[in-house]
Amino acid sequence: MLNDLPRHKGQRNKLVKLLITKGIRQPEVLKAIGKIPRHLFMDSSFEDFAYQDKAFPIAAGQTISQPYTVAFQSELLQVKPGMKVLEIGTGSGYQASVLHEMGCKVHSIERQKELFDITRQTMRKLGYYFDMKFGDGFAGLPSFAPFERIIVTCGAPKIPEKLLAQMSIGARMVIPVGEGSQVMKLVIRDADGSFSVEDFGDFRFVPMLGSKNV
Ligand code: SAH
Repeated sequence: MLNDLPRHKGQRNKLVKLLITKGIRQPEVLKAIGKIPRHLFMDSSFEDFAYQDKAFPIAAGQTISQPYTVAFQSELLQVKPGMKVLEIGTGSGYQASVLHEMGCKVHSIERQKELFDITRQTMRKLGYYFDMKFGDGFAGLPSFAPFERIIVTCGAPKIPEKLLAQMSIGARMVIPVGEGSQVMKLVIRDADGSFSVEDFGDFRFVPMLGSKNV
């Protein structure tokens, strides 16, 4: 792996310990975060901060989510290897790489062309081969539906109907909902096809916006 040094590994181990003190428990999530070189998903000028538990700016005015948030959403998703997962908001590709590392078949959508192009190149360099699509997350990815898991990594004004329609029976969707700040919601599609929704605390994400053809 390019420029992943023992000191980075050491910093990752510390980050994993911190996430445990914050309540993250699932070994597969901790293992993925302990393995993935987060500093290589960010501008090199932020390298020294990459293993702090903080969100950071990436291209096109967007952010790489805070490690705790990535861990929290990944844990709430309850993935198993081989599951088909849809992510809305590829951003830096870090969250998608965590799920990929956990054995999921990840499809990820990003609406900003500039960021999409940069991240696609970075993922190639790092060798994280998940499916990336440039498009509007509100529409989901009908050609690959249904999904067993959906994760939204931008703040949605409400739960998009089209994403609900792309959930298989038993599927889980983790989505932050709200303007300004968001409530993390877990949506489960029950055996009879109905949906149940549970709340999991307040978070802050960049907004989920409509399509933008740039
Ligand atoms: N998962 C990312 C977090 C990036 S921030 C990571 O690990 O780095 C959220 C991203 O959602 C931004 O890149 C933003 O451009 C994107 N986004 C916002 N609205 C969107 C939409 N409607 N469809 C797809 N992506 C969207």
